[in-house]
Amino acid sequence: MKIVVAVKRVVDSNVKPRVRVDQTGVDMTNVKMSMNPFDEIAVEEAVRLKEAGVATEVIAVSAGVAQAQETLRTALAIGADRAILIESNEEIQPLAVARLLHAVIERENPQLVILGKQAIDDDSNQTGQMLAALTGWPQATFAAKVDLVGGAALVCREVDGGSETVSLSLPAVITTDLRLNEPRYVTLPSIMKAKKKPLQTLAPGELGVDVTPRLKTLKVVEPPRRAAGVRVPDVQTLLDKLKTEARVI
Ligand code: AMP
Repeated sequence: MKIVVAVKRVVDSNVKPRVRVDQTGVDMTNVKMSMNPFDEIAVEEAVRLKEAGVATEVIAVSAGVAQAQETLRTALAIGADRAILIESNEEIQPLAVARLLHAVIERENPQLVILGKQAIDDDSNQTGQMLAALTGWPQATFAAKVDLVGGAALVCREVDGGSETVSLSLPAVITTDLRLNEPRYVTLPSIMKAKKKPLQTLAPGELGVDVTPRLKTLKVVEPPRRAAGVRVPDVQTLLDKLKTEARVI
């Protein structure tokens, strides 16, 4: 059983993003980039399914600039078998990513596609859902546990106030939540091994997908600065202030 995993190159989660002076977007100059954290979880899950003998091949796919090869190499170091980069210098929005993934799926015929629940740069939370619609496959979003049993995927999902377990017939689309697993540390030998694994580069046109953006960003602004706090001399003053000054949320 083949598994396709979608991985996006994003600004590292430890970096505080700075908005460009002209407010057209986030300043990417000399910023550390990494794999989207939810996608690391997706790769880890796929590799665990391969290690458990359930999957036979894990293919990592990314759409973006040439440097996304580094992100794909990380996926290969975690344990993916091969990678596909759909290279473009254009901004690729969620619908275009879903269409590209759909085209890859038609070529590769996987039984399962695992994506992150959201990319931490655009916070769209759309690609997995759109891919499920394009393929017509069942989907389970926000997965906290995945078991593949007899041609079906049993997925425990995080929902408000608890969890819900659903059964999906394969092929299916799953998006990962934080609790699904803890991605492994990538070791130096696995990084070296990953350098020799196959990485194919395609252009969106080769997949017959037009990635022209449909949305135009009008303005990006930083959140308002928080006012400085005050130090109170004792607990009683704190309680008084909470009673008189705290705003009801
Ligand atoms: P989003 O809908 O943008 O929040 O992204 C949800 C998930 O879709 C991400 O966690 C990735 O797994 C996948 N994804 C989004 N953009 C890309 C991309 N450019 N390349 C590969 N996968 C992507």
